[in-house]
Amino acid sequence: MNILVTMSWIAVLGARNVGAVPPQEHPAVTTQMARKLVLERIDEIAQNGHCRQTFWKEKIDLNLLRFTVEQTRFYDVAGREGNLKFSAVVGKLASPDQTLRVLASEVEADAFVLGYYDANRYVRTRHVVLTHGYHEQPDPSDGRLRATTMEEKQNLLLHEILHIALGKDDDDLNSRALCPLRLLAFCQRSRTASATIEGSPASE
Ligand SMILES: [Zn+2]
Repeated sequence: MNILVTMSWIAVLGARNVGAVPPQEHPAVTTQMARKLVLERIDEIAQNGHCRQTFWKEKIDLNLLRFTVEQTRFYDVAGREGNLKFSAVVGKLASPDQTLRVLASEVEADAFVLGYYDANRYVRTRHVVLTHGYHEQPDPSDGRLRATTMEEKQNLLLHEILHIALGKDDDDLNSRALCPLRLLAFCQRSRTASATIEGSPASE
């Protein structure tokens, strides 16, 4: 299985704030799609006893994850959102103030959380950038690009949500085995989801 690569993007801020981000009353299509996908995955986790326990042991509150999803915006660099500049998305000046597409081209990641340093404090924003790896992945057998599967997309989105909800970097997520593919190995998608309803034995 491919390991989807994720990371945070750290911008260098200018001295002044740009001001508030213009209110976007209607979430963009990418945000709606991503929220729907990851909320479906969280619901599946909640409905699977073993899975739910694994998250509980890791002290991950599924309701906090849901709340974080609703607060997070997603941007697809393959579309027009790729032309948005860091300052326009985050509401703070950056130097250089690059577009999301340029930022994505500078990192080897299938998705990343926009972040910046304010004084010496690292601020992780609630803006997630989806790069080309969100759509296509090299096939392990021959290296040719194939469409990213729905499960891979959901795991990738959930990984970014874990970064934001827990306020942790990859080192922490990996050291706690919270890399989504490892964590979710406990949470195999069941084709008979109705068999793993709330309250079912954890030994399933
Ligand atoms: Zn990560």
